[in-house]
Formats: sequence, C-alpha cells, structure tokens
Amino acid sequence: MLYIVATPIGNLSDISFRAIETLKNVDIILAEDTRQTKKLLSYYDIQNAVVWSYHAKSSESSIDSIIEYLQKGKTMALVSDAGTPAISDPGVKLVSEVKRRGITVSPIPGSSAFVAALSASGFPSHRFEFLGFLPHKKGRQTLLKMIAEQDHTMIFYESTHRIEKCVNQMNEFFPHKTVCLARELTKIHEEFLIGTPSELQKILTEFPEKKKGEFVVLVASL
Ligand code: SAM
Repeated sequence: MLYIVATPIGNLSDISFRAIETLKNVDIILAEDTRQTKKLLSYYDIQNAVVWSYHAKSSESSIDSIIEYLQKGKTMALVSDAGTPAISDPGVKLVSEVKRRGITVSPIPGSSAFVAALSASGFPSHRFEFLGFLPHKKGRQTLLKMIAEQDHTMIFYESTHRIEKCVNQMNEFFPHKTVCLARELTKIHEEFLIGTPSELQKILTEFPEKKKGEFVVLVASL
C-alpha cells in the first residue's frame, strides 16, 4: 500500500490526524527532501521513522526498488516538501508505476496551495484551470496569450524570482483582467493582493517586500 500524504504549506498545524497516524505507522516514508521531512516528523514527535529519498531526479531503479518493497507487503507514505505530492511536485511517475503493478495507492488529503488560494480569493471556482508552474522561457508567452482568452479562472504557481516579471507580462497580455497574488498562504505574511496588473505593479514597486515569499497567481475571467 502506498499512501500519498499531504503536508502543510506553511502553518505546521495544517495536517490531518490521519496523516500523522499514517506517518507514524508506515514502514517507510518517501520524502522529496529528507531534511525537510525530518523537521516535520520531529515537530510531531514521530520517532524511528525510516525515511528514504524520492525526488524529481530519482532513477528508474529507485522506483523498481520501491515497488519491490511494496510487493513484499511493506507500507509506504510519499510526502513532498509542502502540500500535496504529485501536484507540481514529484510523485506522478511513481504513482502511475505503482498502480500499473496492481498495488493500491491511497490519498491522505490536506493542503494544496492552489486550492487554499482559490477558496479565499473570491474568484469564481465553479470552473477553473490549474497550470502548475508556467515555463520560464519557451512557451511562456503562448501560455500567457492563452490565459488572456479564457472565460474561467486560471491559476498557476510563480516563484519569488519571477513574480515581478510575471506581473509585468500580465500587464502586457491582459491589462484589463483582475488578478490575485495569493502570497505566503498560512504563514505570518499571508495576503491576497487583488487588482489589475498595473495596480499590482504599483503595489510591488511601493512595497518591494511584497515580492518575497511563495505565490499562487489567479486570473479572473474578466
Ligand atoms: N505540492 C504543492 C501543493 O500542493 O500546493 C506545490 C509544490 S510547488 C513545488 C511549490 C509552489 O507552490 C510554490 O513555488 C508556490 O508557487 C506554491 N506555494 C506553496 N506553498 C505556498 C504558500 N504557502 N503560499 C503561496 N504559494 C505557495
């Protein structure tokens, strides 16, 4: 059995009882970054856990050995650094291979940054599209053009290094749309900056500290 366990995106209390129980009870925890996961385990006083590394660059052979253990009846939990594994995080390939071998995969749901952002943005949520991270170079402009044409809420992840460039590009491609920058969700500096791209440009220029942290970008249909 492989459990896909969601972990907090900031506030360490945002984890389910079932997630804690699962992390306590599985034979092996597969972690994107073992040091990061050990911090969470120590916060919840989960001792003696066996933690293996599983990340975006893990080899085919490491997937094979994980599957071998699962086939022997071992239980495993996959976690990423923050949020739900396999959502803009490692896990898709592992989950698909494990399922292909007929082994059960079960989710332990919890935080995911884009759902948290959408839920508190006030933007329409009956129809939305999540794009993960936009490409840095090739294909970025095509995607921005595509976002400009949509009639439903568009959501993507952006890093602190590119947030200013991103706002500038949104001003170029869809100056009249309403955009929300959901920043540092569940953390001390959590905030929702909402406005047209040019209004957001002004805010980021006036308050450069607001360019820091983690961001979910939401683009309303109008
Ligand atoms: N698996 C995660 C999830 O379920 O949301 C996403 C992991 S992805 C590698 C990391 C990106 O998610 C960040 O660069 C940021 O865009 C977004 N993110 C994660 N935590 C966030 C937070 N607390 N506030 C805003 N955005 C966040």
